[in-house]
Amino acid sequence: MNLIQNMNVENKKVILRCDLNVTIKNGQILSDEKIIASLETINYLLNKNAKVIIMSHLGRVETEADKKDNSLLKVHSKLFELLPDGTGVYWSPFTRGSELESLIAEMKPGEVLLMENTRFEDINGKKESKNDSELAKYWASLGDIFINDAFGMTHRRHASNNGIAKYLPNGIGFLIQKEINGLEPVINPEHPFVVIMSGAKVADKIDLMANILKKCDYLLLGGGIAHTFNALKYNMGKSLVSEESLDEVKKLLQMYPDKIIMPTDGINETEEIKPIDALDDQDNILDIGPETIKNYAKYINLAKTIFLNGAAGVYEDDRFASGTKSILELCAKAPAKTILGGGDALASAEKYNIKDLYFMSTGGGATLDYIGSGKLNCLE
Ligand code: ADP
Ligand code: MG
Repeated sequence: MNLIQNMNVENKKVILRCDLNVTIKNGQILSDEKIIASLETINYLLNKNAKVIIMSHLGRVETEADKKDNSLLKVHSKLFELLPDGTGVYWSPFTRGSELESLIAEMKPGEVLLMENTRFEDINGKKESKNDSELAKYWASLGDIFINDAFGMTHRRHASNNGIAKYLPNGIGFLIQKEINGLEPVINPEHPFVVIMSGAKVADKIDLMANILKKCDYLLLGGGIAHTFNALKYNMGKSLVSEESLDEVKKLLQMYPDKIIMPTDGINETEEIKPIDALDDQDNILDIGPETIKNYAKYINLAKTIFLNGAAGVYEDDRFASGTKSILELCAKAPAKTILGGGDALASAEKYNIKDLYFMSTGGGATLDYIGSGKLNCLE
């Protein structure tokens, strides 16, 4: 794996794969964090007088009609705003063809071109998402060097990451490097290694749980995930239980009876504290309770490494946010290196202004996949 800083990019046409997959609502970019996270590598290349051809996906594009809401044009304006004054930042509404090629031919060293959403190539036969080799070869033909810095897509092998790399000298940018370094303590953990996993659906995370249970000393559960484990023993009332995952959950519990730690109390819909072994048919548990938090604090304080994913309760509603907030605060105070990953984990940390963690990963699915497998699929 080559690092961008060890490659000769000077005056080269560099194809840079970024993750500029921002959320756009009513024509507005909700958060420009992904764009900001990409700037270090872009600026480095500009300082090296490279011609920087940026590619990214945005949302899902299955039909012609999807194009309108998934154009990178808004991102182009934002990029123009964020790059140093006077930088030439071109826009290509085309993902292939003579117009795109002549725009690139006109670029001068130290200029940028943002190409329209790579997934526009998904309309006829999912060429981008299915890693079509003709498309990858074509995109590769537009540059001299390929740099991948789209950490959020590293779990996928698409034409614009895995594909292009097959046809050009290639390396990884600073964002991917930062993620690999930040996540290192979870890949090679110091023990005791405590994992705290919560969230809504077990099915999304069961493979990750199986992988991580091989490595961790304790897995503390919260959210709907915990309900499905507790449902093997207790009546969970109206709480969110994934019936289809009960068999797999049972297997995990049989394999690791001492590692898996479950909530013993919770907060129901009417904000009552309820012991998990005494729920009524009407109870819908939406947060972990105080006894559970106290118990989890013991594990958090003895850990050397913590990985935190998901939200222990429905933190979007302040009435059910105290579990999520307490766990975050306990981790921030604990002596362990705490690594946080996952979309809602990150959003909840932002909501409660938690900053004192060892590392907060920017990836959602990509982070979880990497932690489970120890591999970045797109680089394989
Ligand atoms: P991440 O994005 O960090 O991987 P998830 O998306 O798996 O996390 O989980 C977060 C979601 O889980 C939140 O939207 C939260 O409201 C929901 N959640 C947490 N606890 C519960 C619960 N007890 N019942 C239903 N949903 C829950
Ligand atoms: Mg989520």
